[in-house]
Amino acid sequence: MNVYDSARIADVLAPLGYAPTDDPAAADMIILNTCHIREKAAEKVYSELGRLRPLKDRPGTRNGRVMIAVAGCVAQAEGEEILRRTPFVDIVLGPQTYHRLPEMVARAERAAGAVLDTDFPADPKFDHLPGPAAGAEGSSAFLTVQEGCDKFCTFCVVPYTRGAEYSRAVADVLREARCYASAGVREITLLGQNVNCFHGEAPGGGEWGLGRLIAEVAEIEGIERIRYTTSYPADMDDALIAAHRDVPELMPFLHLPVQSGSDRVLAAMNRRHGSDDYRRLVDRLRAARPDLALSSDFIIGFPGETDGDFRATLELVKDVEFTSAYSFKYSPRPGTPASLEDQVDDAVKSERLAELQSLLDEQQKRFNDRCIGREMTVLFDRPGRHPGQLVGRSPYMQAVHAQAPRPLLGSLQPVMITAGSANSLSGTLTDRAVA
Ligand code: SAH
Repeated sequence: MNVYDSARIADVLAPLGYAPTDDPAAADMIILNTCHIREKAAEKVYSELGRLRPLKDRPGTRNGRVMIAVAGCVAQAEGEEILRRTPFVDIVLGPQTYHRLPEMVARAERAAGAVLDTDFPADPKFDHLPGPAAGAEGSSAFLTVQEGCDKFCTFCVVPYTRGAEYSRAVADVLREARCYASAGVREITLLGQNVNCFHGEAPGGGEWGLGRLIAEVAEIEGIERIRYTTSYPADMDDALIAAHRDVPELMPFLHLPVQSGSDRVLAAMNRRHGSDDYRRLVDRLRAARPDLALSSDFIIGFPGETDGDFRATLELVKDVEFTSAYSFKYSPRPGTPASLEDQVDDAVKSERLAELQSLLDEQQKRFNDRCIGREMTVLFDRPGRHPGQLVGRSPYMQAVHAQAPRPLLGSLQPVMITAGSANSLSGTLTDRAVA
């Protein structure tokens, strides 16, 4: 979601004459778009700001100094604290106010002091964003359809940093999707903190859920692949499950965070489902789409997690056969209820995390091996490291390397998979490949 937000921040600043650069030392303005989900991500902000400090006084910049802004969820959570610890920061803005950046920049240019804007405006930012810059998204684009969260999992800061749950209107989403399609985007990933609780205002009145929205995005000329992330298991409704059966553009890969396989831990996390509910849900999804591959998120060492609880997580991983996953040590977050209770020793967390990750790695390798000898459609989205090579994504999100002429960049092509490693596949274009 921060990738999406950063692209919109660039859109908002474009009319002021700002354009992105890859070189911080050449920049007139540097914006850190930050994440607060775990402590490590939040800490990085201050060390990164320390590294940027020497760039501040570069001569010849458009404002007489390099403007430094901190955006995103760390900005939302820490606000004034950032200005106190790093007084050379000019602008601090939360994830819901970046449409106001032009005014903040103007104020920062005029004023001696810093500008702080961490409101949750009643009028959502989406109503004020300019359209995306033509061609800026490449062949695959993110599109935020839902934001914020009202679930209050006991480990999670999202409700406090991104704010209350909100869905964009369907017409607004479709307009943006068409705009990407006409700029050459072939794959759209619909985004939300809990994207499957999407309930956007429908064009003819009433509301649509995510399943209906996906079917409509699939109708857009040029959109050949649809994905969505991140989903909350308890919000998977029948219409969305049916979309996995009925919409061929919806890719057979689903990221469905479960966090733990222990019912006791799931209850303490306030997840609103047990581990067998999750197993049954996976069965229903696979009945709808038999080749569905699943990935997940896991939190290891949630307060009070026993060895038995951890074994239950390993059992669930074995039962579902995830093809990839993200796993994290529990990180206590300010203001969340779980941060106060009976913490698990860090050495124990590390041990459990390593055991889980080695099981997940095995499953990923096994899945990659099973792909050898199959033909897959690959969306080539970047040049490879070797000359004449392109890299793309399979329907299951695996990276696929193949020798392919440059004009195939940005297109979907049939590839015969010939080899698999832990993290990627390689193959050869079949003779049906066309530019
Ligand atoms: N909406 C998703 C959560 C997205 S946050 C859901 O309902 O599951 C992305 C991931 O970060 C989470 O799935 C979780 O695994 C991890 N995470 C969130 N808070 C965390 C914390 N306090 N410590 C460790 N990992 C955390």
